[in-house]
Amino acid sequence: MTGTKTNVKEIGLYINGEYLNSSDNATFEAKNPATQEVITRVSEATNEDVDRACQTARESFENGPWRTMTVEERSVKLRRMAEIILERKEEIAHYDAMDVGKPYEATVGHEVARAANNIKFFADFVEKQGGETYPMGEEYINYTRYEPVGVAAIITPWNVPFMLTTWKLGPCLAAGNTAVIKPAENTPLSVSLLGEIAKEAGIPDGVVNIVQGQGGTVGTALTTHPEVDLVSFTGSTATGKHILKGGADTLKEVSFELGGKAANIIFEDANIDKAVPSSIRAAFMNSGQVCLAGSRILVQRSVLDEFLEKFKKAAMDLKVGDPQEKGTNMGPLVSKEHHHKVKSYLEIAKEEGAELIYGGGRPDLPEYLSNGYYLEPTIYVHDNPKARICQEEIFGPVVTILPFDTEEEALDIANDTDYGLNGVVWTENLQRAHRISHAVRAGTIWVNCWFVRDLRVPFGGFKKSGIGREGGHHSLEFFTEAKNVCIALQ
Ligand code: NAD
Repeated sequence: MTGTKTNVKEIGLYINGEYLNSSDNATFEAKNPATQEVITRVSEATNEDVDRACQTARESFENGPWRTMTVEERSVKLRRMAEIILERKEEIAHYDAMDVGKPYEATVGHEVARAANNIKFFADFVEKQGGETYPMGEEYINYTRYEPVGVAAIITPWNVPFMLTTWKLGPCLAAGNTAVIKPAENTPLSVSLLGEIAKEAGIPDGVVNIVQGQGGTVGTALTTHPEVDLVSFTGSTATGKHILKGGADTLKEVSFELGGKAANIIFEDANIDKAVPSSIRAAFMNSGQVCLAGSRILVQRSVLDEFLEKFKKAAMDLKVGDPQEKGTNMGPLVSKEHHHKVKSYLEIAKEEGAELIYGGGRPDLPEYLSNGYYLEPTIYVHDNPKARICQEEIFGPVVTILPFDTEEEALDIANDTDYGLNGVVWTENLQRAHRISHAVRAGTIWVNCWFVRDLRVPFGGFKKSGIGREGGHHSLEFFTEAKNVCIALQ
């Protein structure tokens, strides 16, 4: 299958167990960024549709069986949902390859499998959740209940549409909440399947609802809706600020996973042959459209030449092409607007005096991809950590290498950013590995590795990279209210 062959039916909103047109029949185009072809049309929700989805989710939370059924009953259905995701993994991965432009091979093998695992993990995890009891002598006893909160708005970005939605939906449903999901307008396809998957798994109608459309309108209607209790959001820091302000009147609880500008620090005692391929993935996976991207590579000056030579060669070896084709490492950027934004940083880099080591142009591609939003893997060296390309999240295949001399200097550069999502350290010195891990102000530190995630560990950002943590019991804490019951025994 190539990026040019698509056959996707029109996509409706999913409310109360049914796919529907929007109330004014408005639609928008889903486009393939590898070719600019229109894949299909998608219903654009009106305020009335968002209201209907939120009222439905409220009604099913208050009156439906989902909240009151036993944890085991809910978990059986969630585990079935995970199985269905695996049964349909090729279709889901093709959808993501088509409208995100991400390589099919990696998506089917990693992201979709991970999405199924997210749902299964929380189904299993919630079954082990207990409460606490605190006796007060023979007079009173306290016990703690963890109750679902209510209606959750789940808002996800376009770079990992399906997997990131399940990462939120899993704990949301496992805890007994109901949901209204809004996928990104650039990538509506794969998430739309979650409605029929939930239905087939036996999850009652009204528990999972999906509205489609623009962030500024549909997203705002959802995140300010009075029936929404919680907002679980992954996206940009700028949007996070809007949501926080908009939800203030109704005091919504929020969990935010926002942008990043990670430092990937290569010390002179690092195993360079391991650091290079990992740093290539960290810089160029999903065309650099990854919140955890290692977009600033800090290299100790004594190994700079060696690192640069090996890194450049590995970047040149990446296969940029059709996301649906076997062996493709990098597809296009997600949209015309995003392509334009990323390319504008090439001009900024030039003005700021960064040295271009490789890339910056359009890769050599077959004719049928000539309209695709492609950019070569692009490498700069810069000695000014304050430069815009070193401070701002470019979210494309553009990486900047910053030389340093001392550990202290590396730390100063690493922490000199508004973001604090993650950091990476390459060193064979155990003490240094710990020292740097403790001193970098970020929510995840990888030592001699990158992008390894155990679903139990906390995940989230320091500074402007987020509010709250996801993963394991952290996710369940967000999606539940702790209640104490105190009983007089006499
Ligand atoms: P975005 O903030 O533009 O959009 C994210 C989602 O929010 C979309 O569904 C969008 O429609 C919606 N939205 C936009 N404006 C809204 C508003 N005013 N009210 C409510 N919803 C609104 O982000 P994006 O460009 O889709 O995604 C890229 C960003 O996501 C990057 O900054 C990246 O770092 C971040 N991201 C973070 C993580 C993480 O785990 N921390 C993971 C992936 C992506």
